[in-house]
Amino acid sequence: MSERTRSAELAALTAIAAQVNCTQDLDEILRGALQTTLEVIGEEAGEIFLRDEESGDLILHTHQGVSEGFIAAEAVVGAEECLCGEAIRSGRLLAVPDLETHPARSRQACLREGFHSCIRLPLLARGQVLGLLNIQSRQGRCFTPEDEELLTAIGHQIGIAIANARLIEDAEKRRATLDSVMHSLVDGLILVDRRGRIAYVNPCAEEMLGLPAQALLGQTVEAVEREMAGRVARPEQVIARLQAAAADLQNRPTVEFTLVAPSARSLQARFFPIHDAGGGHLGLGLLLRDITREKELDEMKSQLLSTVSHELRTPLASIKGFATTLLRQDVEWDEATRREFLAIIDEESDRLSELIGNLLDMSRLEAGTLRVEPEATDLERLIQETAAEFQVMTHSHLIRASLPASLPLVWADPRRARQVLRNLVENAIKYSPQGGPITLSAQVQGDSVQVSVADRGIGLEPQQLERIFDRFYQVDSASTRRVGGSGLGLSICKAIVEAHGGRIWAESRPGQGSTFHFTLPRASTGDL
Ligand code: ADP
Repeated sequence: MSERTRSAELAALTAIAAQVNCTQDLDEILRGALQTTLEVIGEEAGEIFLRDEESGDLILHTHQGVSEGFIAAEAVVGAEECLCGEAIRSGRLLAVPDLETHPARSRQACLREGFHSCIRLPLLARGQVLGLLNIQSRQGRCFTPEDEELLTAIGHQIGIAIANARLIEDAEKRRATLDSVMHSLVDGLILVDRRGRIAYVNPCAEEMLGLPAQALLGQTVEAVEREMAGRVARPEQVIARLQAAAADLQNRPTVEFTLVAPSARSLQARFFPIHDAGGGHLGLGLLLRDITREKELDEMKSQLLSTVSHELRTPLASIKGFATTLLRQDVEWDEATRREFLAIIDEESDRLSELIGNLLDMSRLEAGTLRVEPEATDLERLIQETAAEFQVMTHSHLIRASLPASLPLVWADPRRARQVLRNLVENAIKYSPQGGPITLSAQVQGDSVQVSVADRGIGLEPQQLERIFDRFYQVDSASTRRVGGSGLGLSICKAIVEAHGGRIWAESRPGQGSTFHFTLPRASTGDL
């Protein structure tokens, strides 16, 4: 081999190595590598295929000096096929000095393209064939052992470039997936490295703590604790508990604390150790969970217990008192008084049984077994009956039904629909202690009928309005507490309405009254 060729070979290898090192873009690397290889070998036509990791097929990636027709036929080559298959199986360069006499299946296509000899060069990395480089010779060149040696060296370079590019792509994909997971986490996550510095903060933790990740990254845990001191209730105690928990990682301890800023909420912090695959200590993780709702629910549940016992005791005391009075041997009650006492006993028993009914519904709701049995239901009648039923119970309110000339039937469980309506009217009476009008109305809204119950009572603040349908929620002010109640009614109404596919909501202004609305689906003609 001449001196010129040797230096050209070296230059080609160096050029390919430089391309591999200066770009991570596989397309660019392969295009450059094919061009340099053809230049140094003194040929015009060639292709590079990459092996599909799943099917093993060779997919054409880049080409030079070949016609579109040839490319179209060669875009995907089966791993077992023909010359390419042979080169892949052996993992060695395959030279075909004379295609004319070779039995290869692709011989005709090659000859049509004017190729008379060729090389199939497997691109290898760590013993695996990652692709194939084809060199086609229109002059029918007879490739020398030096050519083959050079090409084999080039094949290794390209193989390594492909393996590296795949590794980078893989790492990128993993990083992107991990990033999405971290971003989608509904819990806050903070990672602390071995030196005790913050290494990662996910968006949820940023939001919870009200501190941007940039302000936290690289800081020591102590610095962050100092920063947090102004935002936590009873900071000294909390920081001491957090430090103790971080020192006791094996037990994955939890610490609950209350943030006062940026927004008031209860958080639960759980520490865990981070180890590498070999069990080496990499640092620690801190998961932050917002437990505000759980805490509130807990409080509301215990509140419910005391409310319910109170609510049970009041009617029971009344029933017992009037029954004992009636049973007294030493007093002769006239008929009117007797009836009055019995009416009170009757009314108080109803209160008791309603409360127990609500408690049962609530436990069904919690167990997910609150069922409705819908049928075509006459809502107009239900509204009229409810208005009349409650009118006899109150003198200070004027309860009236305001209905259109005709109202379609609804697809609803009549007993449950009545329960919702009664609950809303009962509340309207309860929460308008000065009396006033209460209007029950209904109107068709597309496929639904919307029912509304309006009062001119004490009304609700906007922030109360958001929560009244929550389980156990009661507006805890003197005016509502005075009238009693368990805070169960509206959440049961919501569950019932939603079980029918309807919606329930309220509008209200403090001191001006409230209007509660709910929808029920219209019965279609097929239901009748
Ligand atoms: P309760 O048994 O306490 O009445 P509900 O679930 O029926 O429970 O109602 C929840 C809270 O919503 C009540 O405590 C009350 O403060 C408020 N509320 C319900 N209806 C009205 C209304 N018509 N006007 C004003 N406040 C109401």
